[in-house]
Amino acid sequence: MSAERTFIMIKPDGVQRGLVGQIVQRFEQRGYKLVSMKFTQPTKELLEEHYADLKQKGFFPSLIAYMLSGPVVPMVWEGKDVVKQGRQMLGQTNPLASLPGSIRGDFSIDIGRNICHGSDSVESAQKEIALWFKENELTQWKSSTHEWVYE
Ligand code: UDP
Ligand code: MG
Repeated sequence: MSAERTFIMIKPDGVQRGLVGQIVQRFEQRGYKLVSMKFTQPTKELLEEHYADLKQKGFFPSLIAYMLSGPVVPMVWEGKDVVKQGRQMLGQTNPLASLPGSIRGDFSIDIGRNICHGSDSVESAQKEIALWFKENELTQWKSSTHEWVYE
């Protein structure tokens, strides 16, 4: 089962701090396959839908303001166990609880500036991918490294 997909998004602080390349590199070097990626200024409506589960939380308005503050890089990555592995590569929601070696643990400090989003389950990944990408933006291709990554 190497066709699992997750939704990873570099947040406005990750873009502003010039971390796009390093974050993309971590997923590439792990062996995961890029399926889609864009650079876009999201609308408030899209962000409110993306974070709909958190609407009742006190931090919701500041979260939306943060996410609206600049362009983001939404991506779809594919490969074995990529949803869970992607979360581990990100680290904990609170960067201070994230281990060195994780993206948040290496690049961030505050919970409201944690530079990257990753789907928390296969079901959320499917919902988030459908929210941010059209079906024809999900590129079908075979990576020439496939046999060197999977046995
Ligand atoms: N967040 C925040 N304060 C909190 C909890 C979360 O600002 O106390 C922000 C943070 O940017 C986090 C996002 O809201 O990444 C979504 O929260 P969630 O619990 O889904 O964490 P994640 O799945 O991103 O680790
Ligand atoms: Mg979440």
